[in-house]
Amino acid sequence: MSTKYQSVKGVKDILPGEVEKWQYMEKTARELFELYGFSEVRIPIFEKTSVFMRSIGETTDIVEKEMYTFNDRSGDSLTLRPEGTASVVRSYVEHGLYNSPSIVKLYYMGPMFRSERPQAGRYRQFYQIGAEVFGTENPEIDAEVIGMLMRYFEKLGIKGLELEVNSLGCDVCRPKFREALLEFLKEKKNLLCEDCQRRFERNPMRIFDCKSTNCHEVTNGAPTIEGYRCENCKRHFDTTLFYLDRLKISYIKNPKLVRGLDYYTKTAFEIISKDMGAQNAIAGGGRYDKLVEDFGGSPTPAFGFAIGVDRTASLIGDKSHSSLTPAVFMAALGDRANQKAFELVDSLRQKGIRVEKDYENGSLKSQLRKANKFGVRYTVILGDNEIDRGKVVVRDMSVSQQEETDISKIIEFIIEKVK
Ligand code: AMP
Repeated sequence: MSTKYQSVKGVKDILPGEVEKWQYMEKTARELFELYGFSEVRIPIFEKTSVFMRSIGETTDIVEKEMYTFNDRSGDSLTLRPEGTASVVRSYVEHGLYNSPSIVKLYYMGPMFRSERPQAGRYRQFYQIGAEVFGTENPEIDAEVIGMLMRYFEKLGIKGLELEVNSLGCDVCRPKFREALLEFLKEKKNLLCEDCQRRFERNPMRIFDCKSTNCHEVTNGAPTIEGYRCENCKRHFDTTLFYLDRLKISYIKNPKLVRGLDYYTKTAFEIISKDMGAQNAIAGGGRYDKLVEDFGGSPTPAFGFAIGVDRTASLIGDKSHSSLTPAVFMAALGDRANQKAFELVDSLRQKGIRVEKDYENGSLKSQLRKANKFGVRYTVILGDNEIDRGKVVVRDMSVSQQEETDISKIIEFIIEKVK
């Protein structure tokens, strides 16, 4: 008996009808990001496992339980990329792009892989469009890049979004905050969930990100980074907000916002949709001023974001709008007519006209039915006797009217009609 296969759990096909939205999101991103001076980089689908472990952070959910890691035939540990930034930084350092005299702006798009529990808006293969800017600490860039992202969602016609921003501090101020948080949680440790008890030891800020309502309650009244930022981080954050105001972008300051990745310093943000269920974050990002150095490059501050394409797709209207509807259907009756139709289809396509034909030698009635199903405006009808007279019939399907023209002029005739 033959086996009927199904795709792997948490992984899906993007079929025609839906894929047009994806193409539209990709095209809009390319056009807009290039306007802001970004160039595309194509990063590999897999990297050495250590690339992700050390950048994303060994105690994050991603590294602890979500990576697709395998040994290749030579025994090297490789991982399907769970996100894009680590690979872009690896590439940036490997190719010495930090020697570039100016700021480097890169964008990428493609699939990411995380072994999460699948549910609506959460997949094991999902897609991101991301952008990274290397080479400046200036908070203008934080605001400008967040601004670009908000313009992107505007262009897609998505409403009901909220921008949440925070500053996670830096090596100077974050340790003091960590101490204060540990002090606060010390007595309450046993009330935390198992995951958070582990986080308590290794990465207590991540407790703010726990989905359990119980852990939420435990953190009620906990100190936040807000009271601990150093002067430098404070200034950076205030200036970022100042420039967001200049761009007329509204935001909510959320001092408990932490990201699922450890490499962020200073600015961190998320964009939330009010029209979605539990998985309502459609983009996130921030500043990561230490990562290039951690990867062996010369110290280079950086800022970036990633958009969740699957979730964004669920928020945009239908983009299929029959963009692939052919303009012309070629109906042929008889062998010689069919051969001529075959050639004409090729000639019209060479002129950039989308055209379909019948492959079943159907009756005129059935071919016209097909033409209607395709939704074409014009059907060219060729019969053997018309060919003998050097003529073809062109039927305007919208008004059911036909006219005859010379077969030698049919290409120009159609071009004139459809342009
Ligand atoms: P992150 O790198 O985790 O900040 O993710 C950035 C964006 O990617 C999120 O805001 C989501 O929109 C999207 N995303 C992350 N994980 C998944 C997933 N498992 N399935 C679908 N989208 C995801």
